[in-house]
Amino acid sequence: MQKIVIFGATGSIGVSTLDVIKLHPDKFSVFALTANNNATLLYQQCLEFNPSYAYINGADLATTLQHRLLEANSNTQVLCKPEDLAYLAAHPEVDLVMSAIVGSAGLVPTYYAAKNGKKILLANKESLVAGGRIITDTAKLNKAQIIPVDSEHSAIYQALPYGYTSLDEIGVNKIILTASGGPFLNTPYAELCKVTAAQAIKHPNWSMGQKISVDSSTLMNKGLEVIEAYWLFNARPTQIEVIVHPQSIIHSMVEYIDSSIIAQMGAPDMKTPIAYALSAPERITSGSKTLDFTSLQNLTFCDADYIRFPCLKLALNALDENSNVAAIINAANEVAVAKFLTNAHGFYDIPRMIETAIEKFAGTTPSHIEELIALDLEVKQYCTTI
Ligand code: NAD
Ligand code: MG
Repeated sequence: MQKIVIFGATGSIGVSTLDVIKLHPDKFSVFALTANNNATLLYQQCLEFNPSYAYINGADLATTLQHRLLEANSNTQVLCKPEDLAYLAAHPEVDLVMSAIVGSAGLVPTYYAAKNGKKILLANKESLVAGGRIITDTAKLNKAQIIPVDSEHSAIYQALPYGYTSLDEIGVNKIILTASGGPFLNTPYAELCKVTAAQAIKHPNWSMGQKISVDSSTLMNKGLEVIEAYWLFNARPTQIEVIVHPQSIIHSMVEYIDSSIIAQMGAPDMKTPIAYALSAPERITSGSKTLDFTSLQNLTFCDADYIRFPCLKLALNALDENSNVAAIINAANEVAVAKFLTNAHGFYDIPRMIETAIEKFAGTTPSHIEELIALDLEVKQYCTTI
């Protein structure tokens, strides 16, 4: 029986993780669940999964939640202090850490899970984008394992031999990340200038949280994923390629030096990569539908358009382990997306804000977590003013 803490339990990935866990009560028990402010869902999850701890962001919310849980005869202890996230990630009873908070708020739990040698199921790509060197070095030093949950990275992980040591040793030529192209794949530039948040969050294939949905519409999500792949697989920048595949059936591919390409396929349902992250290298059921090949009309592919989607180019240019630009992009993008979601800014204000932040803050990469958190905060504060 493995004990798991789920950071971001009330989000899209958190809920799907609990759906998979529910299928395997003999294998996993829930040690802790965390949420930002969705106390209603967290309360229901606590009653269903009976964790030792629940975390919610705010003392008032925590007091009310604790009261309601006691009334329902639950033993779950409610936490709410900022340092409690690190406490749960580091807890000696925890085996598995699902990192599924959105944005750089996921940095602290991911870092403490790495520092304490946990098996990390990584959905929160932002922590690797911002802190690639710090997170991967900390994980290595403390023998923590980082297993990708992001569907593209899970596909690549599944197309590589389990436990390999380096891409060169196993004859990998390149990694090919597929991108759906998002809801604006064929939208002309003039119309993109006027699109609204409501249009951006309507993803054609995947049902996801709001921030990642906007990131998919700007192709920043693919840019962040290229940086994520760079750190996860220790790849050279020239070994990572992006190709648009609007049907999201092939989740990504690995090309070997003999020109053989291994692709991983499946319905667009995050329960499959979540199940693999929970059990790799073994397989467990996920509850996702299997593919019906006869119902697939076409699998098509094309290049990404870097002119209409400048965020992708900005992220690709940040593939440099000695620079802080990836962390700046990550922080600025979070603020820009939040402003876009309230319709305070337009679609192209997102890359504009990111470029302005890069010009102001570009420098060498932070070497400590505290420095990284300070940079993240400083960039975010600046971006609220531009
Ligand atoms: P979501 O918005 O649906 O959920 C986010 C979760 O994080 C919620 O539980 C929320 O309560 C919590 N949270 C937010 N801010 C917090 C804070 N300051 N402190 C503590 N908790 C906080 O997001 P999601 O779609 O589930 O995505 C989560 C992560 O997984 C993101 O990094 C995203 O890029 C990644 N991811 C998601 C998908 C997907 O299909 N949804 C796919 C691949 C990767
Ligand atoms: Mg993805």
